[in-house]
Formats: sequence, C-alpha cells, structure tokens
Amino acid sequence: PTQGYYTRRGGIGESGDFVTSPEISQVFGELIGIWYISEWIAAGKPKAFQLVEMGPGRGTLTDDILRVFKQLSSLLSKCDVSVHLVEVSPKLSEIQAQMLTGGKVQSNPEDKSVYMKGISKTGIPLFWYRDVQDVPLGYSFYLAHEFFDALPIHKFQRTEKGWREVLVDIDPEVPDQLRFVLSPSSTPATQNFIQPEETRDHVEVCPEAGVIIQNLACRIEKGGGAALVADYGHDGTKTDTFRGFRNHKLHDVLSAPGTADLTADVDFSYLRKMTQGRTATLGPIKQREFLKNMGIDLRLQVLLQNSHDTATREQLLHSYDMLMNPKKMGDCFNFFALLPHHRLARPDKKHKPESKSPLPPVAGFSELLLK
Ligand code: SAH
Repeated sequence: PTQGYYTRRGGIGESGDFVTSPEISQVFGELIGIWYISEWIAAGKPKAFQLVEMGPGRGTLTDDILRVFKQLSSLLSKCDVSVHLVEVSPKLSEIQAQMLTGGKVQSNPEDKSVYMKGISKTGIPLFWYRDVQDVPLGYSFYLAHEFFDALPIHKFQRTEKGWREVLVDIDPEVPDQLRFVLSPSSTPATQNFIQPEETRDHVEVCPEAGVIIQNLACRIEKGGGAALVADYGHDGTKTDTFRGFRNHKLHDVLSAPGTADLTADVDFSYLRKMTQGRTATLGPIKQREFLKNMGIDLRLQVLLQNSHDTATREQLLHSYDMLMNPKKMGDCFNFFALLPHHRLARPDKKHKPESKSPLPPVAGFSELLLK
C-alpha cells in the first residue's frame, strides 16, 4: 500500500515506464465508447447506466468515451449516465480528476467507499472508489483495460514430487538481493489454485482477478449490463510471463521493488472459469480483429480526410500501426466480454415462431453492420 509501484510511481505514457493504447490514439477509446452504446441499444435503451472503469490510469480512456457520449447526446438525452472509477493510486486519481473535470473535485476522506466526487467536463457525475464492490448495484458497463495484468499472481512449478510454489527469498550470499526459490513442500496456494486438469509445467494464477470477475459476473447477472476486458494474455496456454518494465525497457522483477511496473499475461481461460456460468463470455479475440470489426478503418479515413497537415496525418497512421500491427499491439492484446446469457440466446423459432427478430450480434466480436 505505501511502497507499491502504483502508489509511488505509476508512470504511464511516453515519459513514464510503459504506454497503453488509449495514450496512443483517441480512436481506441472512441470505438470502446461505441461498443457500450451499441450494447445499450441492444438492451432496449435502459433509462440509466453506470460506466465503471477499473484502473483508469491517466483517465484518457474514460475521457475519450465521454466525448463519444457527448457527440451522441441526442441519443442519450433521456438516459441518466454516471461514471464510477475504481483506483487505488492517489497520484493517478489526481491525474484522472484533472483530465476529466479540470480539477474541480470534492474529496471525501471520511467516506469509506467514495473517496472523491466530481462532475465531468461534459456534465456527467463522477465517483472514485478503491474497490469495485463499493460501486452501487445497477445496470452497468464495466471496463478493465490493462488492469488485470497489474494484479499480483502466484507462480507454480511442477516437480517430480508434485506442484511447488515459486516464492521470493533473500539471497543469503548477496545482501539486498532477492531471489526465487521453490517451496520445499506443497503450500495452501498449490492446493487451492491449480486446476486438477492442468497440463502445463509452470502456471501463473491471479486469484484477485478471479474474485473480481466473480463479482462482476454476479453484478451483471443481477443488475444487467456488460463487461469489456482488454489486456495482453492467452487462453490458458502460456507459462512464465511475469516481467517488469521501467523507462520502456524490460526490468528484472526482483531488483529495486516498487520502482518498476510488474506485469503478467492475463489467463482468459481462468477468467472464463471464474464467471461460474453466471454470464456468457465472448473472446478472447485479438485487438486488431476487435478494432477492425468496430470500424477502425472507416474512423481512420474520416480523421485523415479532416486533417490537413502532414504531421497530424503521419501521427494518425503511426498510431493506427501501433494498435493494429500484429508485431506491435495487434496480436498480443485481446478483447474478452461478459454478457447476460439472454443477450446471446437465439430465439426459439421452432416452438415460438412468433418470437421477435434475433438480437443484433455483439459488436467487435463479429463484423459491425454499417448502415
Ligand atoms: N487503464 C489504463 C491504465 C492501466 S495501468 C490505461 O490503459 O491506460 C493499471 C491501472 O490499475 C492503474 O490506474 C493502477 O493505479 C490501477 N490499479 C492497480 N492495482 C489496482 C487495484 N488493486 N485496484 C484498483 N486499481 C488498481
């Protein structure tokens, strides 16, 4: 809580330790904003929704989404929209407040759940929490971009004697130096977090992500809405992915703890399992497929047509390449969604031939139908 990376540093952006998609291009957040609007329409335009972002970083993604909501204000005019940010970093929450409200926020240090409130530049109420469980229940759209990869993992190694946990120890030979060791016997974590059907020899498990996904799945089952998770990750196939970043370079995870961003790939198969069937899931699909399905090419064309100087056009093309190129962010980042079961149910034509036309496909996970 006091010495962790996000409390002390949390350097996102070019001058920091790592850069994320919303910081690269406004188009990223705009397309995600359209995804939520499309799900809101498919749900029959409920009278109110909450946008809940977990780990909002500098607030850029929410800012881009709110700009889309503003542009579509005639569509949303009768809808009561509020924004709920789940953030543990005092430093980043200040940056978010500046970005989203211009700094006009009210701190609530006495309140155990909402520690800050404000109104966005576009007139939407904003609330800050440390835990998603404190966000009021209700029809909600959840967003987690590069959030789950930041949560702590357990590491396990299969040995001849069974599963052992990878632990961190002080090197007895070198003072101030940490090292990895294997637990001499099984641990509570090896007994509880490894799936019986596991075939890999080395596994990383993030129980905190499991708890949060269970919580989101319960909330969507009860209150409706959808969750969009975007992160680098795999579908239960990768093994050792734990690494550190500092000043945009790989950094030894054990050296100078608290000064580098520590990250591990998200295991989407684990997230799917942790929904416990309470919601349907879609994906993971590659970022370049999701953004293409959401119409990124068309949006790029419009922005290129509207920009008249070469530098802006080059910047647009460069950021498109960063997001879409399979060798850059296009292939390693994935999109994954949680949706109420009825959203994906096919109408029963045989038994109920009078049933209404099927719901539109979920945008992003199949090609967007442009009229
Ligand atoms: N979504 C942003 C930032 C990603 S960095 C972007 O894409 O640019 C990870 C974010 O999660 C940071 O805002 C960090 O402060 C926050 N975070 C890390 N651990 C958290 C936790 N346990 N609970 C809530 N937020 C957390």
